[in-house]
Parts: sequence; structure tokens; C-alpha cells
Amino acid sequence: MEEQALYHDNWQELEQKLFLRTFNRFPVTLVRGKGAWVWDDQGKKYLDLVGGWAVDSLGHCPPVVVEALEKQAKTLIQASNQFYTIPQIQLAQILIQNSCLDRVFFCNSGAEANEGAVKLARRYGKLRLNGAYDIITTHSSFHGRTLAMTAATGQNKFQQPYIPLPTGFINVDYNDVEKIRAATTARTCGVMLEPIQGEGGVNVPDDSYLGEVEKWCHEKGILLILDEIQTGIGRTGTLFAYEQYNVEPDIMTLAKGLGSGVPIGAFLAKEHVSVFTPGEHGSTFGGNPLACAAAYATVKYIIEDDIPGKVKQVGKYFATKLGSLKQQFDFITQVRGRGLLIALELSGEIAEEIALACLKRGLLVNKLKPNTIRFMPPLIITEREVDKAIAILEDTLEEIRNPKH
Ligand SMILES: *Cc1c(COP(=O)(O)O)cnc(C)c1O
Repeated sequence: MEEQALYHDNWQELEQKLFLRTFNRFPVTLVRGKGAWVWDDQGKKYLDLVGGWAVDSLGHCPPVVVEALEKQAKTLIQASNQFYTIPQIQLAQILIQNSCLDRVFFCNSGAEANEGAVKLARRYGKLRLNGAYDIITTHSSFHGRTLAMTAATGQNKFQQPYIPLPTGFINVDYNDVEKIRAATTARTCGVMLEPIQGEGGVNVPDDSYLGEVEKWCHEKGILLILDEIQTGIGRTGTLFAYEQYNVEPDIMTLAKGLGSGVPIGAFLAKEHVSVFTPGEHGSTFGGNPLACAAAYATVKYIIEDDIPGKVKQVGKYFATKLGSLKQQFDFITQVRGRGLLIALELSGEIAEEIALACLKRGLLVNKLKPNTIRFMPPLIITEREVDKAIAILEDTLEEIRNPKH
């Protein structure tokens, strides 16, 4: 009975009928995953360089997380934040021991983490900065899909459909500290940035940018909020991307890679920003034992197995191989990124064509923009698997250059 349901051949048709039209999905129904690989309902196997959208850090169904989930599911799944529960305290401790932050709040997604961070910054503004509430964010950023995070996200295409948006967000150019200085007023309580812009194009700022922003925030007494939802938990080759830029955020947000696919988000703050009082923020599911057990197992493994160190190596290997492809194909204009967050920019709008051709050959990649492909594979991907991906990409690009008739 169950097997039959799994191989129902109308899943995609059903989806078209049943869902609000928010996703343009590729014509594949995934049913199973292991490590860096996934299988569709026809039994076809794919090497996965999307990784659940930069989520499946330890690959699909990593044994340490499955084990933690099994154990926790049999013990206590949800208990409410009216009581103490152990997995969330263990997770808090490992995050705080391994970051520059002192306190944490758990929620269920990235957007929610950023909402919480902004609420905390506004409380701080009210109490410490004469009621300041504006948050400066950047163009091409991405901070989530709630109304406030749509206002924070400096991209017209996300904002236009939903005007009027909540106020209190000023969008300025990225990688230009002068624009932040110029936008800072007595109403400003913080600056919110991604250390590397993910959805906006894998935009890596100049090495000095975050340091200059940090210095400006300190001078003005305003908060530096780093959105590490995509860059955090090992993705860029250190546990948190801020480490590579020698800065310390006052508030940091996490989600994507934190729970190996079990929904969880978090925002962390320095002690001096810890201004909430009981009742000012909360969550029903946030910090629930099941999600926290998965996240604790994930973070523990990532730290103990030095996954960030491995990401640095395999990321460099991957980027070098992509650099060779760039030499080979003149329509590749740039390879950029850090660790295992890498983008390939193309001279034409052929990203969709490439992604679909890769799919046919058993490789999943993300079309980030019409002219940009993004790679955000599981952090445990091996050099052999990278070779495999590069071989498929090379075949695909070769065919696009010389289409068979
Ligand atoms: C994905 C992402 C978000 C939003 O996370 P959700 O879990 O989808 O709400 C916010 N900020 C950044 C940098 C992201 O990459």
C-alpha cells in the first residue's frame, strides 16, 4: 500500500492542482536521500549540490542526526517553554561556547530569527538609544519572507507586490561603508548584514567591509546584526563567517544548516544587548526538544569532526576545478564564493538551461539568477564527488556550446 503511494505517477499533476503557485519546481519528485545523493520516484539517482537549499550540512539522513531524532522522538517531542527542557539547553551551550555571543533564543526558521533579532534591536533602541528603531540593511540582501523581513530585504522584486510594508528599514548599497555612514541618523539602532550575500548572488564583500561597518557601529553605539542563516554552521569554512572577517556581531541569526533539515532558527546576542524581559518575545515550537536534539547532534558533529576545516579544503578544490572550467568555456565569466557557497556567473541567461541539462545527467544545481548558478552542497561532500559533479558540468557545458542536432 505504502510502496504504491510512493510511486503514484501523478504527484506533480496533483501538486499543480492543490498548491498556491509560489514555487517553480523542477520536474522531479524526490523520495529518498543518503549523504550527498538523492533518489527520485523513478529510482533515478542524483548528486545533490543544492542540499535542501544550504540546509543538509551533514548530507541526507546523517546517522548521528537520525539517531538523535529517534531517541528524542521516543522520549519527549514537545513540552512548551513554560518548562525547562534539556536538548535546548545543550544546544544553547554548544553554540555559545563556540561563538562570541552570550545568550540565545530559539525559533523555527530564518525569517523568524531575523524578526526576533530586529525586535531585540528595537528594544535596545528604546531603552538605550533614545527610542531609535531604524535598521539599515543592504540592496541585494535576503532576510526572509515575513512582511518585516520583506522590508529588510533590499530587493524590489520581493517588496513591490506587498506595499505597504512595515517601516523602519533603510536599504543601502552593499560593500560600501560610506552608504551606511550616510544613512545613519539619531533614529538608527542597528545595521543588519549578511557576511556574504547568499540569495542576492553569492556576493563576497571586500575583506575590509565588515570591519569598517563594525567600527562605525561601535563609534555610533548602534548594533551590528549579522544574518548568518546561510553562511553559518560551517558553510564558508569556519563555524561562522564573521570569524574570517575578524569582527564580532552584537546579534547573530542562524537557521538553514543548524538542524540538518529539522526546522529550527536562532538568534544570539551579546550580554549587553540582553534587554528582553519575560513576555516580550516567545514561541510555541521554538526550542522544542526534537528540533534541538537534531541541531545539537548536528553542531556537535560539525565541531568535533572539524567539518569547517574540511569545507575549506574541498571548497578550494571545487573552486579550482570550476576555475578550470572557466578557462575552457568563455561564457563562464566568474567563479566566486567562500567554502562551499560558490556561484558561477555566465555571460548569457543560460542558468536554467544548464540546471535542467545537469538534472537530466543526474546532478542537482541551483539556478540563482538567469545568469548565475549556485552550488551549496552538503558540507561532507568528498573530492571524488566534486570530480563527478565537475565531469557532469563539463559534459553539460560542452553540449550547450555545441548542441547536438
Ligand atoms: C534563507 C535565508 C533567510 C530566510 O530563512 P527562512 O528559513 O526561509 O525563513 C534569511 N536570511 C538569509 C541570509 C537566508 O539565506
